Amino acid sequence: MDCLFCKIINREIPADIVYEDDQVLAFNDIDPKAPTHMLVIPKKHIPTLNDITEEDLALVGRLPMTASRLAKEQGFAEDGFRVVMNCNEDGGQTVYHIHMHVMGGRRFTWPAG
Ligand code: IMP
Repeated sequence: MDCLFCKIINREIPADIVYEDDQVLAFNDIDPKAPTHMLVIPKKHIPTLNDITEEDLALVGRLPMTASRLAKEQGFAEDGFRVVMNCNEDGGQTVYHIHMHVMGGRRFTWPAG
């Protein structure tokens, strides 16, 4: 499958992996938008948020749980952090394998641009 994030899961291309279990993988974003910027992805290939089905609910629930776990481990959970999931072109999605951006280490503004 020609998917960048599936290639990272399969170790076909390198990534700075910060967490892995049997269902999810997390790694540092190659172009960070905050002092800490990680991506949490399911190992199952799901192209967009629009493709999530009932059977994926437990898996997808692991994304924010992992985000919080990483934020706690890295010491910015109490101060706060930002998670983002972009969907399709208008949402700013560029990699079509769902991923949760986890950003911390600075104060974020709202609304997002
Ligand atoms: P999107 O724009 O929400 O789809 O986010 C895709 C993210 O993947 C962007 O923040 C990119 O910087 C990041 N990215 C693209 N290629 C790589 C890579 O090879 N390793 C880590 N992050 C990547």
